Amino acid sequence: MRWQWKLGRFAGIDVFVHATFLLLIGWVGLSVWLDGRGLAAALRGVAFILALFLCVVLHEYGHALTARRFGVKTRDITLYPIGGVARLERMPERPIEELWVALMGPAVNVVIAGILLVYLAGAGSLGELRAWDLTSGSFVSRLLVVNLTLAVFNLIPAFPMDGGRVLRALLAMRMEFVRATQISAAVGQGIALIFGFIGLFANPFLLFIALFVWIGAAQEANLAQVKHSIGGIPVARAMQTEYQTLAPGDTLASAIGAVLAGSQHDFPVVEGEKVVGVLTRDALIRALSKEGQNAPVSTAMRRDLPEVDSHEMIEQALTRLEEAGAKILPVVHGGRLVGLITAENITEFLMIRSALRASQAATRQ
Ligand SMILES: [Zn+2]
Repeated sequence: MRWQWKLGRFAGIDVFVHATFLLLIGWVGLSVWLDGRGLAAALRGVAFILALFLCVVLHEYGHALTARRFGVKTRDITLYPIGGVARLERMPERPIEELWVALMGPAVNVVIAGILLVYLAGAGSLGELRAWDLTSGSFVSRLLVVNLTLAVFNLIPAFPMDGGRVLRALLAMRMEFVRATQISAAVGQGIALIFGFIGLFANPFLLFIALFVWIGAAQEANLAQVKHSIGGIPVARAMQTEYQTLAPGDTLASAIGAVLAGSQHDFPVVEGEKVVGVLTRDALIRALSKEGQNAPVSTAMRRDLPEVDSHEMIEQALTRLEEAGAKILPVVHGGRLVGLITAENITEFLMIRSALRASQAATRQ
């Protein structure tokens, strides 16, 4: 159970709402109502939160649709009480593209604020804006303030905020990607420290944000490090070369035999020398309960998995694993299956490599 529900599909992207989001709606409605301000005020409070989150969804679409222009798909958009998350299949590689993807989210909020400003001016009620806070003023003026706040907050130059990506993209135009990430992660953690310090004395909510920013910055720096350390290594050096295969006509019973006999969980399905699919353990178990053990492997195997060439770089294999949402991919060369690659494989390979390097460094001393 992922504790989220699908709201709908817009522009080819599924939008989900996380269960905890309902807690926020309930909390806002209930606290206004318990305040003795009546049912109408409670409904207005809830309507405001919904309008706010509509703006958050549009912000995420700003990222997603810009990424699409650069050929990067978005898996889905999920709404959490702290905001929205658009899961891109990957980040675009060129700094200028990452810059645009990062900027177009906050840009959406600026545009919304602009439209609301024009509306307020048209209605002759610009005076409401002088109050500049969230607890007073009309629905429209509060929504305007919130959109500007979203734009400014997201542009703080700290991961995982959009501003962190903007900073990294700007730095990456002048230096190496890893170095750019390390510098922007350090800036982000510096800002997190300041937030945390202010939070200690002023607002506990800032402490929470500080923690969130600190972890986000550290994660991004790690990811860049991994990407860097696998650069230029061909898949052939890290793939598994000892494995069993199945044929599409084999029964699920024989697949069970293969799972139980060894430590392999996922099997490439091969016809002649050509890979026609992959049977994962999860798919096998699902198929067993539906079709029984005499059904052929071809009914349960996944056919849409991409392949990796053994001469391609590990980086590409990782990207393709991520894009396909798969644990395992067949490695081919010259139309023949030559190995299997998993994220675990790659991690093992990197661990061994860094241990070897450390021992070389030790013997040199
Ligand atoms: Zn954003």
